Amino acid sequence: MHYAVLSTGSCGNCYIFHEGNSAIIIDCGVTFTKLSRGLESHGIPIEDVKAMFLTHLHPDHSKGVGVFQRKTGIPVFLSDIALERNGIIIDKQRIERSLLVPYVFGNDIVVDAFSVHPFRTSHDSEGSAGYRIVSKDNISIFLMTDTGVIPDDAAALAENSDVKFIESNYDEDMLENGPYPAHLRKRISGIYGHLSNTEAVEFAKSVSRQGDSVYFVHISANCNSPSILRPFVMRSIPSGIFCRVCERGETFEGFRDAR
Ligand SMILES: [Zn+2]
Ligand SMILES: [Zn+2]
Repeated sequence: MHYAVLSTGSCGNCYIFHEGNSAIIIDCGVTFTKLSRGLESHGIPIEDVKAMFLTHLHPDHSKGVGVFQRKTGIPVFLSDIALERNGIIIDKQRIERSLLVPYVFGNDIVVDAFSVHPFRTSHDSEGSAGYRIVSKDNISIFLMTDTGVIPDDAAALAENSDVKFIESNYDEDMLENGPYPAHLRKRISGIYGHLSNTEAVEFAKSVSRQGDSVYFVHISANCNSPSILRPFVMRSIPSGIFCRVCERGETFEGFRDAR
């Protein structure tokens, strides 16, 4: 499988997974121009894109959805709860309801070469989701961002995944001593907020085995720093597990073969 991250963090999130002539996108917190240029630069024809999946409807994950829908007509999947409870946001972001496809948690969605398993996350956006994706070639991906706590079913899903994208949003000390007012600090570290470096790294360590790839994503601009997270990851995660701390907004790609 070939995958590409076009951006991660509060400036915008967008992940692409590509195998054969089939691609799916998770989140569209980038402009259509950035998305189409990204697809082109990673050699992924837009005709290969069969579906988009949304984790939730915060603008850093969904601000580009409406334009993407109008330009491509490609279906966009989100949870039935997210669709039901976020009517005002859907209208405000000019998302096309006719191209939204709601799913029910617990049901897998098969799109071309991919089987997608959504799981619930804990965030201040109702119906928010993480995903485990398995491709036809049996490569499995785990993606969990924007969650205040690690969901009960996440460990079992992540353990069996070759490539993991895990939110590592804030450093506890930087959040405590940083520029945010108390209510915002409480929101970020609360059960409907984000994961800390400690939570992310401990989780990654507990679910990874030799040969896995782990990407630490959605790093806060104000309350985290790759220069703090990188040495922490190095100290904590055994060698033989590939780790990458993803800078805010950076673009990169990876390839994964079957074991
Ligand atoms: Zn976010
Ligand atoms: Zn969010």
